[in-house]
Amino acid sequence: MKNIVIVGGGAGGLELATKLGNTLGKRKHAKIHLVDASNTHLWKPLLHEVATGSLDSGIDELSYRAQAHNHFFHFHLGRMENLERDTKEIVLSAMTDENHKQVLPERRLSYDTLVMAVGSQTNDFGTPGAKEFCSFLDGRAQADIFHKKLLNTYLKANNTASKKGNFTLNIAIVGAGATGVELAAELHNTASELAAYGLDQLKKDQLTVTIIEAGTRILPALPERISAAAHRELGKLGIEVKTQTFVQEITEDGFKTKDGSFIPAELKIWAAGVKAPDWMKDLGGLECNRVNQLVVKPSLQTSLDDNIFAIGDCSFMLQADGKPVPPRAQAAHQQAAHVYKNIVRQTANKAPLDYIYKDMGSLVNLSRYSTVGSLMGNLSSGSMMVEGRIARLVYVSLYRLHQVALHGYFKTILMTLSGRINKIIRPRLKLH
Ligand SMILES: Cc1cc2nc3c(=O)[nH]c(=O)nc-3n(C[C@H](O)[C@H](O)[C@H](O)COP(=O)(O)OP(=O)(O)OC[C@H]3O[C@@H](n4cnc5c(N)ncnc54)[C@H](O)[C@@H]3O)c2cc1C
Repeated sequence: MKNIVIVGGGAGGLELATKLGNTLGKRKHAKIHLVDASNTHLWKPLLHEVATGSLDSGIDELSYRAQAHNHFFHFHLGRMENLERDTKEIVLSAMTDENHKQVLPERRLSYDTLVMAVGSQTNDFGTPGAKEFCSFLDGRAQADIFHKKLLNTYLKANNTASKKGNFTLNIAIVGAGATGVELAAELHNTASELAAYGLDQLKKDQLTVTIIEAGTRILPALPERISAAAHRELGKLGIEVKTQTFVQEITEDGFKTKDGSFIPAELKIWAAGVKAPDWMKDLGGLECNRVNQLVVKPSLQTSLDDNIFAIGDCSFMLQADGKPVPPRAQAAHQQAAHVYKNIVRQTANKAPLDYIYKDMGSLVNLSRYSTVGSLMGNLSSGSMMVEGRIARLVYVSLYRLHQVALHGYFKTILMTLSGRINKIIRPRLKLH
């Protein structure tokens, strides 16, 4: 039986494994394998909510083994580190526990068709001090670590503020893309929630949240009027935005900028830039771009090997207008559905179909305060700006679409209901 191996169970890979499992896997037409470095899946756009405590990751995460059991695919826990195209094998590195004792040795997995869906990481562009002093939000583990750090910093600041009147807690985020902007609003929300839960010695004017951006405006990938609307909302919350500010070095105390100024920060987050993981550079002799993404044809097959597909953030595809498909959850979702069709066609010896990115618009959720964005970005007449409840509804629906792809409509409705109940019976913030 043919082996179809998907590496990376994120926004794209897990939807694909589920769909292939429910069809080819269930009918025993092919063996579907999903490899992921983690035991559980959490939809990546939720990470900033996990980091600030607005969301308890333990509630929304999904077990790969349970999903595999329910949807007729095989799950392999492991981190891919190499690809051997001559023998059609992927190599998974040896796994150790927290005491550095080996749990599993290095393993190999054979494939007939391989789908790379390992996502991306934040790109710190080698800025001195970034790795040492900044927090990153590339995965659930990092979001959980940041959450603990945030609570401890806040606890300490609250204690200091009770003794010292002129004290300020400074938090700064590098990067005014959607992640940086949404995180800033979430941090503001966390501060007011923590005050409501008793950490009220630190007053509003003793907390600063700053976004540092090298470009001329926030949300550079979105239309200017959305950027302006979001900027206004941030201003109302008292979040400072420093545009045209290039960070040159990070120290324990803050950010040194190119123009010679210093932005002090106890908590420092790097949320600028995206790249595919470094181990993918020249992977198996495949073509990749300067940020390690695998170059794919419109069929989503890699440019040098028709048996290897790449989807989501780790892939690079140019559209007809010369712009690359953006690294977004909606692209990963669409590409998973498209590769599913092409794999089914490949097994029936039919020619693959070309993928066309449908830009459904972009929404930026500023915590509980506001949601702004545009819909139907593909329209030639321009996009439609939305704000408020409708915008929030569409923003949430992207996650619901992901849940429907993984669990079907009935279970998604139950999950939505249980989410509503949790909102009533649990604290508004994860406080531990
Ligand atoms: C805080 C935040 C907010 C965001 N908000 C939005 C938003 O509002 N809208 C939007 O469209 N997009 C948003 N994005 C971007 C979106 O999350 C990504 O575009 C999307 O998740 C990409 O999907 P993917 O399947 O390519 O990769 P991912 O969802 O990142 O999944 C990659 C998977 O690969 C696994 N993996 C990685 N390396 C290996 C390895 N070596 N071996 C095995 N497994 C591996 C990981 O564990 C992970 O499960 C946001 C991102 C962040 C960080």
